[in-house]
Amino acid sequence: MNLVLLGPPGGGKGTQAKRLQEKYGLVQLSTGDMLRAAVASGSEVGRRAKAVMDAGQLVSDEIVIAIIDERLDQPDLAKGAIFDGFPRTVAQAEALDAMMERKGKKLDFAIEIRVPDAYIVERITGRFTCGKCGAGYHDTFQQPKIAGTCDSCGSSEFVRRPDDNVETVTKRLEAYHAQTAPLLPYYDKRGALKLVDGTMDIAEVTRALEAVVDSAG
Ligand code: AMP
Repeated sequence: MNLVLLGPPGGGKGTQAKRLQEKYGLVQLSTGDMLRAAVASGSEVGRRAKAVMDAGQLVSDEIVIAIIDERLDQPDLAKGAIFDGFPRTVAQAEALDAMMERKGKKLDFAIEIRVPDAYIVERITGRFTCGKCGAGYHDTFQQPKIAGTCDSCGSSEFVRRPDDNVETVTKRLEAYHAQTAPLLPYYDKRGALKLVDGTMDIAEVTRALEAVVDSAG
């Protein structure tokens, strides 16, 4: 089973990908996480990507396609992948189709987690993650059970993304509408697009996504 999660920044793709990963043994492939790791490592790709990410724009198709191409060859994807934040342009979607075909894999669904822009700023500016295990939290919607302590690993180190600020969010939403939204008709035309209402609470969105995955039998 290979899934693409579509939807605006802050719409819940990463949170939900982690939940589906746990339940179905699929592997979350987040190009945002991979690029942040490249930035942290100080690699050539990281240096090229950093300024673009800080500005809320999209990194070049060439860079992200190369990252995914290499990742898809690794052996841990036997049960399948959840693409989170990739593809983000029609050129990336076409490249993904070609890569999947070349590697003998199939894309089962593209699922839009639909969230109107009005929700996004609050969602993004309130979110933070555990610096040690990456568990996600939110100032309003999902606080740790014990303040200052990660529920999953007990760490007291939390991080916020440098691009999770009001100005950059606006740019990221613009990029979403201009460059990524055209992927909705791209997948719909071939009957692969499913829609989930991303304004529901986290557990309800998970249930709706599971219903889609389970519908594949
Ligand atoms: P995300 O973690 O998915 O919100 O991505 C954070 C940032 O990484 C984006 O705002 C882009 O600058 C960059 N990025 C992540 N995935 C892609 C992609 N598929 N194509 C281009 N840029 C990307």
